Amino acid sequence: MALKTLPFDREFIEKLAERYPTPFYIYDEKTLRRNARLFTESFAWNNGFKEFFAVKANPNPELLKILRTEFLGGDCSSLPELLICERVGMSGEEIMFTSNNTPATEFVKAKELGAIINLDDLTHLEFLEHYAGLPDLISFRWNPGALREVESVIGNPVEAKYGLTTAQIFDGFALAKRKGVRHFGLHTMVASNMLQEEFFSYTAKTVFELVLEIERRVGVRVEFVNLGGGFGVAYRTEQTPLDMKKVAAMIQEEYDKLIAPSHLAPMKIFTESGRLVAAESGTLITRVIHEKNIYKRYIGVDACMANLMRPGMYGAYHYITVLGKSEREGGDIETVDVVGSLCENCDKFAVNRELPKIEIGDLLAIHDAGAHGYAMGFQYNGKLRCAELLLQENGEVRLIRRAETPDDYFATLNL
Ligand SMILES: *Cc1c(COP(=O)(O)O)cnc(C)c1O
Repeated sequence: MALKTLPFDREFIEKLAERYPTPFYIYDEKTLRRNARLFTESFAWNNGFKEFFAVKANPNPELLKILRTEFLGGDCSSLPELLICERVGMSGEEIMFTSNNTPATEFVKAKELGAIINLDDLTHLEFLEHYAGLPDLISFRWNPGALREVESVIGNPVEAKYGLTTAQIFDGFALAKRKGVRHFGLHTMVASNMLQEEFFSYTAKTVFELVLEIERRVGVRVEFVNLGGGFGVAYRTEQTPLDMKKVAAMIQEEYDKLIAPSHLAPMKIFTESGRLVAAESGTLITRVIHEKNIYKRYIGVDACMANLMRPGMYGAYHYITVLGKSEREGGDIETVDVVGSLCENCDKFAVNRELPKIEIGDLLAIHDAGAHGYAMGFQYNGKLRCAELLLQENGEVRLIRRAETPDDYFATLNL
């Protein structure tokens, strides 16, 4: 079986750990750029294509700056996310604001920045008009409801809180047009961590059919279609990575069939990926501080669920490398649970995992943690968030967020 590789070895990380105590995240700039380009290159056929990086997946401004040089925009859903995009120099249509249950203050800021505002409900049109005034361009988020072909893989969109129903989409565009809005976009996102290429072309096809119907019924020309995120990552070595070139080519086929011959052409395609852009570039480094042998063998590390929540929360799999130890078959392998120190039994990075024999002091690298990793961190149990480092293209390492201290933990109190 193929093993996952890393752009550094044990010696390199040991040296770093002298300056930056574990645990810490380290991001590889080369990998981040490569995965950002996967989007822009695959969709080069579509004039005006843009990937708006989902800031929630990793809000570190240094990473956003890198992504901006690769022509990515930012997809936000909160005031701080808008402010981060502003601070890294983004403005106007470089920012997508795809929020839900949105507070008025956030609409005001999004409008002030000139962001593309993607409305999650029909009532939000008047809410936005009341609090911020209507912009020239409005997008609506479509919830397709019962999509027979995809129901089985993602759960029923009928149960999802997002978006407008199909009937409301027509009303929304008609109302926005009456209110003087002149430019229009349509968004949908019904996947999460999806590895089947066909899923995305199927989604594109249904959205393309809808924009044609909108034009027929309401006389509104939709200028862009935003396909959202959900592009999957092969966290397990036995999974086949999503082929973005194939995804884009399959979407192009639908575009050529449905949009190109219509007078909706040229129509821009947008995406809002967080995971596929950033996951692979990030690794959580943690040191083994204890081993415990009771009914099972536990390896205790100095990171915990507060640093990476996905395994504990969703039972998500993250590949683990024991730095400096051979993973080749026939080596000295043991089956362990890798655990953190939270007083919660779900605080485990791996359960019944076969790993090379581990000793106290070993360094573990938890792979594909660059998206929805640090970002989901929390301070429960008085656990502090760790540092983030960037391995630059020139081989140098830079601290891009320091570790929290107890003073940070107390910062909102008047002790
Ligand atoms: C979470 C989210 C994304 C990004 O999802 P990924 O799984 O990281 O690709 C994009 N758009 C919206 C509206 C989201 O909520």
